[in-house]
Amino acid sequence: MSHAFVEVQQAAKRFPGAKGEPDLTVFENVSFQLEKGEFVCIIGHSGCGKSTIMNALAGLDQFSDGTMVMEGKEIDGPGLERGVVFQNYSLLPWLSALENVRFGVRARWKAWSDAKVTEHSLAYLEMVGLKDVVGRKPAQLSGGMRQRVSIARAFATKPKLLLLDEPFGALDALTRGVIQDELIKIWSQDQQTVFMITHDVDEAILLADRILLMTNGPEARIAEAVEIDLPRPRQRGEIVKHPHF
Ligand code: ADP
Ligand code: MG
Repeated sequence: MSHAFVEVQQAAKRFPGAKGEPDLTVFENVSFQLEKGEFVCIIGHSGCGKSTIMNALAGLDQFSDGTMVMEGKEIDGPGLERGVVFQNYSLLPWLSALENVRFGVRARWKAWSDAKVTEHSLAYLEMVGLKDVVGRKPAQLSGGMRQRVSIARAFATKPKLLLLDEPFGALDALTRGVIQDELIKIWSQDQQTVFMITHDVDEAILLADRILLMTNGPEARIAEAVEIDLPRPRQRGEIVKHPHF
């Protein structure tokens, strides 16, 4: 009986092959655990199955084999205890930044007054440096600002598990550094568990308590998650400065 916060065991993902072709196995035998409050990054080649794993944890996709348990309960669909940040922001374009964040906060705490929902949402937008632009729609925001809204939106509902799929992939290095700091600031405050995909090894070393390296054989396309323990884990609450600053 395991007591890990999240436990993925012997996960596999296969896609049916075209007529007469064998099935495509993206990965097999992927097992890993997340402890409560950890910031874990997963790195690996493009196409090895990182987003597939994240989407499964989000409840948006299913493994072909294996089990996936959070706090002892099988994950079998989306839930408010899990928040997701995608690479392409996925904000609602007809709503302002504030309304985008309010939307999730309202769904999470239905009994709250409108004023409390707004106050709570504004606090998170302020943490990511967007206080002055909360009335703007996504089209009127830069890429970095949109990604900040996505992060504020995901964290504002205080999900127990935050899933981030290459959240900074589309941003320039300077903006990335600033938002990485803001992410760590929020995470340090709320102590949530974060599972983040990145293809940037430096970013993983900078942010993570622990790194999962997903390897794959180009022929067999079989992957396994290998754990790397960082030699000097960050202290919780310590704000990490980007090395380019
Ligand atoms: P990563 O996020 O690590 O780049 P993904 O999880 O997005 O990788 O994709 C893993 C693999 O699964 C890729 O090789 C992709 O081509 C394949 N794949 C994804 N969806 C399908 C599908 N519907 N049919 C066949 N193959 C797919
Ligand atoms: Mg991906």
